[in-house]
Amino acid sequence: MNVYPASDLAQSQQILEHLADGIIFSNQNGYISYANGAACMMVGRPISEIVGYPITDILTRLPLLASSADHTKSSRFELNGRYLRGKAVVLYNQSNEAEGILTTLHDITAEFELEQSKDSFLQTISHELRTPLTAIKGYVELLSTGASGTLNDSQKMFTTTIQRNVNRMVQLINSLIFASSIKAGRLEYITGHTDLTQLIDQISRELQPTAAEDGQKIVVEVAKEIQPLHVDPIHMATILEELITNSIKFNRPGGTVRVTAVPDTMNGNAQTYIIVSVSDEGIGIDPADQSHIFEEFYRATHETESHIRTRGLGMGLSIVRALVETYNGRIWFKSTPGQGSTFTFIIPNQPAEEVTPAPNIT
Ligand code: ADP
Repeated sequence: MNVYPASDLAQSQQILEHLADGIIFSNQNGYISYANGAACMMVGRPISEIVGYPITDILTRLPLLASSADHTKSSRFELNGRYLRGKAVVLYNQSNEAEGILTTLHDITAEFELEQSKDSFLQTISHELRTPLTAIKGYVELLSTGASGTLNDSQKMFTTTIQRNVNRMVQLINSLIFASSIKAGRLEYITGHTDLTQLIDQISRELQPTAAEDGQKIVVEVAKEIQPLHVDPIHMATILEELITNSIKFNRPGGTVRVTAVPDTMNGNAQTYIIVSVSDEGIGIDPADQSHIFEEFYRATHETESHIRTRGLGMGLSIVRALVETYNGRIWFKSTPGQGSTFTFIIPNQPAEEVTPAPNIT
């Protein structure tokens, strides 16, 4: 447990006043005893309307404020038109007794706006590209069927190459559009259930020929007690396809891809969860890449290795994570370079609006 001597921190008031980050101290009951100038600016109140007030009144949108003893957690929230990242840690005195709470606020408005404009640029460009691509795809298909005259062998080869590349571009554009609609909260749902056993079976059968090209096999172990899941089947299929395809792509030749699904009640909780894992025996993920692989457009350094034929955009896992989180689930992985990776996600087995989010398990 970290010890933060509150008295020393208070003596450093003069230094704190010069910080660009907001600093707020509150006592063990949550009443504010100090806020620096930056915090007053961010909160949009003079110091006289901050000191003595409960911190929960001042920062209504900073979750888990008083209860969090975990000094690594931070949350993003909006306040007075600015975007802030806030973090609260419990302060302990020399006798290890809780003495108060230190809240730090960092203004991320510029970063947030940049992210927003990147998203809207991607969204616009994806939609603009889709229309001409659809026309190219349609006409190449017409050409290849001989609708405008019989093709000779080299013309056939050219149209096949164009078709393959256009299909790939359409796939990439669709991924971008899909990702931006998830982020913007515009994801369309088919309300209904997913028969997970059937879906895993179907996707594994579809991907088996790809795995077999490299002498790999896909092993499926789904617990019999698994109930139909309250998830749009298309979304669940996207999650599973991405994870299984990655496992095949990065597996060693002749290796096994294992897909397992088990129900769980998480320590007697009334809500049930489904835990799904996809593992491989492949190259694994370098520790330097591990904290980035769920980021958009991130591709690990090993992708340059010649024996792996990957031409991904680095969107797959970011889409998977966004989808899992849409259903209040969580996803994580364990990976050892040279030995393989296991991606696991947990998803509550209730309609998304009726559940408390799945716990973090890493
Ligand atoms: P893409 O859409 O290009 O496949 P992803 O977002 O799915 O990208 O994956 C991001 C990166 O994570 C990949 O470039 C790959 O390097 C790494 N990765 C994903 N799954 C695995 C795996 N099972 N084994 C090793 N590396 C993986």
